[in-house]
Amino acid sequence: MAKKETPLMKQYNTIKAKYPDALLLFRVGDFYETFGEDAVRAAGILNITLTARNNGGDQTELAGFPHHSLNTYLPKLVKAGCRVAICDQLEDPKQTKTIVKRGVTELVTPGVALNDDILQSKSNNFLAALHFGKNAIGIAFLDVSTGEFLTSEGDRDYIDKLLQNFQPSELLIQKQQKKLFFDSFGEDFHLFYLDDWVFQDDYASETLNKHFNTKTLKGFGVDHLENGIIASGVVLHYLSETQHQKLDHISRLQRIAEDAYVWMDRFTIRNLELYFSNAQNAVTLLQVIDKTISAMGGRMLKRWLALPLKNPEKIIERHEVVSFLLDNPVLLQKVQHHIKHIGDLERLISKVATAKVNPREVIQLKNSLEAIVPIKSLAENSGNEALKILGEQLHSCDSLREKIKETLNEEAPVNILKGNTIAPGYSEDLDELRAISKGGKQYLDEMLERETKRTGITSLKIASNNVFGYYIEVRNTHKDKVPAGWIRKQTLVNAERYITEELKEYENKILGAEEKILALEQEYFSKLIAWIADYIKQVQQNAILIGRLDCLCSFAQHAKENNYTRPLLDDSFEIDIKEGRHPVIEKQLPPDEPFIPNDVFLDRNEQQIIMITGPNMSGKSAILRQTALIVLLAQIGSFIPAGAVRMGCVDRIFTRVGASDNISMGESTFMVEMNETASILNNISERSLVLLDEIGRGTSTYDGISIAWAISEFLHQHPGRPKTLFATHYHELNEMAETFDRIKNYNVSVKELKDNVLFLRKLSPGGSAHSFGIHVAKMAGMPKQVLQRANKMLVKLEKSHSSDELSDKIKQVGNEELQLSFFNLDDPLLEEIRDEIIDLDIDTLTPVEALMKLNEIKRML
Ligand code: ADP
Repeated sequence: MAKKETPLMKQYNTIKAKYPDALLLFRVGDFYETFGEDAVRAAGILNITLTARNNGGDQTELAGFPHHSLNTYLPKLVKAGCRVAICDQLEDPKQTKTIVKRGVTELVTPGVALNDDILQSKSNNFLAALHFGKNAIGIAFLDVSTGEFLTSEGDRDYIDKLLQNFQPSELLIQKQQKKLFFDSFGEDFHLFYLDDWVFQDDYASETLNKHFNTKTLKGFGVDHLENGIIASGVVLHYLSETQHQKLDHISRLQRIAEDAYVWMDRFTIRNLELYFSNAQNAVTLLQVIDKTISAMGGRMLKRWLALPLKNPEKIIERHEVVSFLLDNPVLLQKVQHHIKHIGDLERLISKVATAKVNPREVIQLKNSLEAIVPIKSLAENSGNEALKILGEQLHSCDSLREKIKETLNEEAPVNILKGNTIAPGYSEDLDELRAISKGGKQYLDEMLERETKRTGITSLKIASNNVFGYYIEVRNTHKDKVPAGWIRKQTLVNAERYITEELKEYENKILGAEEKILALEQEYFSKLIAWIADYIKQVQQNAILIGRLDCLCSFAQHAKENNYTRPLLDDSFEIDIKEGRHPVIEKQLPPDEPFIPNDVFLDRNEQQIIMITGPNMSGKSAILRQTALIVLLAQIGSFIPAGAVRMGCVDRIFTRVGASDNISMGESTFMVEMNETASILNNISERSLVLLDEIGRGTSTYDGISIAWAISEFLHQHPGRPKTLFATHYHELNEMAETFDRIKNYNVSVKELKDNVLFLRKLSPGGSAHSFGIHVAKMAGMPKQVLQRANKMLVKLEKSHSSDELSDKIKQVGNEELQLSFFNLDDPLLEEIRDEIIDLDIDTLTPVEALMKLNEIKRML
């Protein structure tokens, strides 16, 4: 038997069929309801009650929440990864006798969100699309909340880097290219698949030209990016699919100019922990240096860090301003004070464009623009050329501010239905209606007094309710005094309620007034929003300029608080850091442990490669990373944590860290490491900076040394002569300095005390004579016996100078020694330990693994 659907469920099913992969919020009266699987999912995520409803003999799950709680629940659904289709009532239920017309008014997805509760103020929320073309991969990023729209194309590595930089919340790809995508970029992205036909160049150009109202895309400088255009078209297509039609704030498409920025691949971005980190509780560089005040500044700083500049002139321009602000602390303080009063201009104006702005936000927009006025004047009169230009480019938006001021009440509510949005004096009609509605209370009081006198009824009451409207209430004791003209409406236990001619007239007037007031307020507000929309570009430009100024102030502020200095950029190929510090580590050390600064000098003639040896934990990685971070900070326009720096700009930074200490990773990690290193070797230029940290550690000592040796040799012989820092615990590599004249040995010095090692953390010229594992074992509190044994083996080993013999020697010495002494006892525990050690394959054991093994043994004892 066919199931009989209720009309409501029929309507629901029709709409749901159009959005099969979205969670449908279906407005029914004052509630948003979800049904079936959606209900189960929503109930789970939102922790709301799941009930069942009888749908023509079938049970359907049901879960809902009041419509006014949408802003509370929607972000939770989106954050949980749902695509949410909001289905509203498209007509007033009072006006229709049949079922209310409904339709999806917005599809909110992780990448397409305008709601403040979903967005983070200092992060962009990018929607991306990616297209594998014949010769290149095209990509586009759009933040619908700010209007930024960017595109580019390139090879896999380049696109991979951009994905790391922009971290899209949602990525659109072609159904057919799913596997290709996974193979190239992994499975970490929130993907959405679109039909293949959307990814066509004609369709994309047409979509874009239609949106921008242009004939060609030449003006944006992207017309040669065939694949980038396809990706950009897909993004816009998706927006219209998700019911986002009002998009005037997306006013341009920008090309990401890959040649303008320092190249860093994804391993480098991660390893340097610039703005995110895999490690728990790790502090990123961004967290340390971010002293921006505005949301625009916060987002821009992150962008600057992801895309450091290569052009010295542009960088020096930033340094100039930072330096000027530092020399003029009063100016700095004043500018920052005003920036504090600037809201998120970009997102506010985007809400205007998409008509999702509320009255309170428009007031915020006005106040933000007001705060720009003094900033403009401060910048113009600062005496600094760059600031002056910036000031001149700021729009004071006088008429816009004026218009908002005269239209809106300063205390305008968030919800326009609360009333009092439009300012008094704006419209005579409105003022009159308000007078009527306000005068009401007084009028009623007068009527009550009059009627009491006339009838002699002392306990008369005038009130209203939803069912009967206004009424006069007479208690039963006075019933006989009711005048003839009153019409009885309702009988209660102790009283009767009446309506009079006068009261009815009054009611019409009042109710009419209130309704009219609301309608007028909405009308005037909509007009205002349409009017403001003409200012989108000016406000966006202001947002960018304020973001930039905020970043420069942030640099100055941070430099002041942390004793940073101005780097000197020149055309040379040198990096000359005096007394450099690690910007993050120096902030984390306990007060009694000062950070020890170090000098690093690299060039292409004398000291191209620095081989740094030293025990674990001595500070080798810190020196590598601080060198890269100092260079990066300098090239984003910041001052730097160092006594002095003189350098030529770097165009690429590569960082590679040997297979990590995680022993469970095993062999494949080593392969990954080698692949990564290979990609460095193929991409270096004469301005590249290469950091290699314990490369080769993931394999046996013998292999490790050989690989590290070969890589260093390659880098030395490469015509680009890339500047390289190589941290290693293989002191054998020190021998390279004898053969290769641009390789220089350094060590991070330690002082051996009687039962301890003192880390001096000073980088000094010269290699290290011996291995360091034992130092660390000491630090880790190994038992004396173990240490003595280890020392003995070391002495033997050191007698063997040739690396070639090394691994054989270890085995031999190891076996010899194990035959001896305390392991020969009959104790079953010791026997177990002996077995453990005999089973060890020393050939493939890394120093860290050895230490862990020792630790295990120690625990057995
Ligand atoms: P390695 O790479 O030699 O194993 P790291 O560079 O990781 O050692 O340094 C280990 C720890 O030593 C760091 O986490 C930091 O706390 C501290 N450290 C490193 N360099 C310095 C320094 N110059 N001054 C003070 N502490 C430092």
